[in-house]
Amino acid sequence: MEEHEHYCENIENFPIDKFFQIGKDKGKKVLIVGEAPAPNGWRKSGKAFYTLNGKLLPTGKNLNILLETYELSVEKCSFTELVKCYVGKERKLLTACGGKCWPIFMRQVQSYDFAVLIILGVKTLELLNLYANSSLRMGEITDLEISNKRYTVLPIYHPSSISPIGHKNNLKIFEEHRKLLERLLG
Ligand SMILES: [Zn+2]
Repeated sequence: MEEHEHYCENIENFPIDKFFQIGKDKGKKVLIVGEAPAPNGWRKSGKAFYTLNGKLLPTGKNLNILLETYELSVEKCSFTELVKCYVGKERKLLTACGGKCWPIFMRQVQSYDFAVLIILGVKTLELLNLYANSSLRMGEITDLEISNKRYTVLPIYHPSSISPIGHKNNLKIFEEHRKLLERLLG
């Protein structure tokens, strides 16, 4: 039986700093939003994008390739996931868990003065659009108002090594928006 970890039925008791990394220096204002905790990431290690043995996960490596141009990294940026539950391979649970976890995510987003949100993956974008009532599109930089605050949002493909095509597409997206990203992330 696969292990699951659900927080969605008890959101009031979810500590705001759990699965929530505040970045350093200019990375503070950039919030990277993942889908749900990875099996071997900070659920086990306590450190975003790192395994228990202190190894950077492929997702983190690929993200750092995108971010290094702007002197940013997954270590320097803020990070959280939209869904707080760990659902293993039962991905069909993500929508329901994401809906119930949405208030936790909102609390985290509002707890700090973020300016830029980078959304990772098609499913995360789908959930954001569903619960923020928005229609953001993959690879496009758009302003989004959530609870009276305006964010610049860039949804990109999931940078995991499971879908190498995602990373390739992300390289294109970052190249395409280079000038704007320099302004936003510089
Ligand atoms: Zn759940």
